[in-house]
Amino acid sequence: MNTIKKTCICCPMGCELIIKKDDTISSGYSVKGHSCRRGKEYGVKEMTDPDRVISGTIKIKNSHISRLPVKTSAPIPNSKIGECLSFFNSIEVSAPIKRGDIVYKNLLNTNIDLIALRKA
Ligand code: SF4
Repeated sequence: MNTIKKTCICCPMGCELIIKKDDTISSGYSVKGHSCRRGKEYGVKEMTDPDRVISGTIKIKNSHISRLPVKTSAPIPNSKIGECLSFFNSIEVSAPIKRGDIVYKNLLNTNIDLIALRKA
């Protein structure tokens, strides 16, 4: 139960991490199977404070497309992903929009913004 296997998603190599609870280490977890520092950090973060960059689509008006692809400007806590995806369905923006524009600020009070992934 104290050992967990996870695939590192920080790069295409996809190292298989073995993460173990270890109270003798300041992070509280030992990580094996990583090929670089990022994998070790990812393994600990997955156990202590997991988060993800979320992408999806939101409604757009005055455009030739009906939904605009967007992504969060930074990772958001996994605990807020469901709320975030529901929120995507509740907002609507208006064209014109350029790729990289911030279409919504401070998403769910996270200080993270929503970024347009294409021109519309
Ligand atoms: S541990 Fe390093 S090399 Fe391995 S998948 Fe993660 S980032 Fe890539």
